[in-house]
Amino acid sequence: MIVVGAGVVGLTCAVRLLEAGHRVDVVARDLPLETTSAVAAAIVHPYRAGPVDLVERWTARSTAVFAEVAGGGDSDEHGVRVLPGTDLVRGDSTAPVVDMPRYLSWLARRVEALGGTLTRLNLSALPSHGDVVVNCSGLGARLLGEDRTVLPVAGQVVVLEQVGLERWALDDRTATSPTYVVPRLDEVVVGGTADDGEWNRTPSPQVAADIVRRAALLVPALAHARVLRHKVGLRPGRPVVRLERVGRVVHCYGHGGAGVTLSWGCADDVAALVAQA
Ligand SMILES: Cc1cc2nc3c(=O)[nH]c(=O)nc-3n(C[C@H](O)[C@H](O)[C@H](O)COP(=O)(O)OP(=O)(O)OC[C@H]3O[C@@H](n4cnc5c(N)ncnc54)[C@H](O)[C@@H]3O)c2cc1C
Repeated sequence: MIVVGAGVVGLTCAVRLLEAGHRVDVVARDLPLETTSAVAAAIVHPYRAGPVDLVERWTARSTAVFAEVAGGGDSDEHGVRVLPGTDLVRGDSTAPVVDMPRYLSWLARRVEALGGTLTRLNLSALPSHGDVVVNCSGLGARLLGEDRTVLPVAGQVVVLEQVGLERWALDDRTATSPTYVVPRLDEVVVGGTADDGEWNRTPSPQVAADIVRRAALLVPALAHARVLRHKVGLRPGRPVVRLERVGRVVHCYGHGGAGVTLSWGCADDVAALVAQA
């Protein structure tokens, strides 16, 4: 079968489908490290995604799988750790934190090790005949799913040098300017913004300065950290995630600000839909 999309959703679905014994070819305009998924901070936390009941179930499932991944193997390889942190609204807890460039590379290696393929291909429509197609095209579903309800929610982040930080921090009380600090293994991602309907991917220096200021208020140790990079990613916003089978096409897109968080839960449901005759 064909999986369209090589972000976290497409690669995770591909892994599950390969494990279920299917032959899987992943095709994507952007390879894993070029996707929105590579920009994500990323903490396992349901943000800007619906519907509430399914998001809760998918998050619980993904949390369990990420904990398993973190508990086995080398975090230098897969990039997944369970870290303590502070959520200004919900209090202190632990959550899986995912170093996305490492993790996406690890997922891509898993796809290939399980016998799948990954090919760059820019589609103008979903393949119209042949085997089952799993549509994990994120924002691209606006075209490929002919779905005008999919809209970008732009998010800017600043990548700072690691200063020995091993805790995350989150303050999402303001809808358009959530503040978060997420340690990767050798750098720290701080954010952010959430601009509905914004397609511009050019980082703004003023917004970056404000992000660093807000992050340093949450975590003072970051006040003098060196800036490594600026990034803007376009979250695939949709009123609710679309996960359904229509004929030979299984759609799985519109994960908003929670594609990492929902990835394993959704991939299990996709595998179940593919298994239906
Ligand atoms: C700043 C920021 C911070 C974030 N932080 C978090 C976080 O902490 N936790 C969390 O869970 N989520 C977070 N997210 C959200 C998360 O990044 C997204 O929900 C997730 O990346 C969506 O994954 P995806 O695989 O659906 O889409 P993408 O990563 O966008 O991948 C889509 C794939 O489809 C392909 N595609 C699209 N159109 C076509 C076409 N026509 N032909 C061929 N291929 C096509 C693309 O090339 C790409 O390979 C964040 C996002 C941003 C921007």
